[in-house]
Amino acid sequence: MSGKETPASGECDQKCEGCPSAATCDTAKGTAAGLPGKADIDVRHVILVLSGKGGVGKSTVSVNLAFSLASHGYKTGLMDLDIHGPNVPKMLGIEGHRLTTLGNMIEPVRVTGNLAVVSMGFLLPDISTPVIWRGPMKMSAISQFLSEVDWGPLDFLVVDLPPGTGDEALSIIQLAPNVRGAVIVTTPQDVATMDALKAAKFVEKLEIPVIGIVENMGVMLCPHCHGEIDLFGSGGGKKIADQLGVPFLGSIPLDPGLRKAGDEGRPFIIRSKDSPTWKSVDAVMEQLVKAVEE
Ligand code: ADP
Repeated sequence: MSGKETPASGECDQKCEGCPSAATCDTAKGTAAGLPGKADIDVRHVILVLSGKGGVGKSTVSVNLAFSLASHGYKTGLMDLDIHGPNVPKMLGIEGHRLTTLGNMIEPVRVTGNLAVVSMGFLLPDISTPVIWRGPMKMSAISQFLSEVDWGPLDFLVVDLPPGTGDEALSIIQLAPNVRGAVIVTTPQDVATMDALKAAKFVEKLEIPVIGIVENMGVMLCPHCHGEIDLFGSGGGKKIADQLGVPFLGSIPLDPGLRKAGDEGRPFIIRSKDSPTWKSVDAVMEQLVKAVEE
């Protein structure tokens, strides 16, 4: 769905017949050619989480953002499409899980009443073994994750994409309805923000908006004096948000507690509801909701 005449993401409900853009739209062409069209999934906002490079905390942000949305009452789905490093199951303590079916639908893993998760990791025999999947295989898995998973009605579907650019992003944009755009996660230093700018260019090419920039590991919170240490030179996230003319959604500190929570497989909120780090995740979540709902 990348044709010039294609309706904006979210406006297309894939009733191609009678649509004024049917002659030029890629979705209509794809449907006519037997390619999968938009999945039948009841979701208000699909949010893609991207980064220019690995290791900047994209999965940590996806997991905690999804958890924050769910804990504020939003029905939330988290889809982990990072097939080369599916860390979401580990961060949520569900890495031994395999997908099960009920009737002809796949059951997501329900982490809380408001948060359901599927991960590419659930499809792999062993997540320490590298996998090589060609584009069509990925597209078929993503299509199943959208239309054959019993998500129930969702307010938000947070999609954790692999770093860089690739098939997964193209497929999800083609297949998911109501894609509001991408959140780009970066650490503050120049070598990371340069890659984040590249990711923003990629998003632009996909003809979806950049919803905003999240700076991760902005400052380090000293576990002893609780002061702020400017380890990577904070402010890089805001700088590229200004450069791109997109909202800056906030900065999350480098906090050993957040790393520990991820390694132990429980979302950070469970450890410390009142921590400044959790408050920063909540603030990012609030800015995100504001950006997509306005
Ligand atoms: P990515 O998805 O970008 O590859 P991850 O989310 O897997 O990155 O994070 C990489 C590592 O950094 C993980 O061990 C994670 O726990 C840690 N990490 C991420 N963000 C933070 C943070 N704000 N404070 C401390 N550790 C973090």
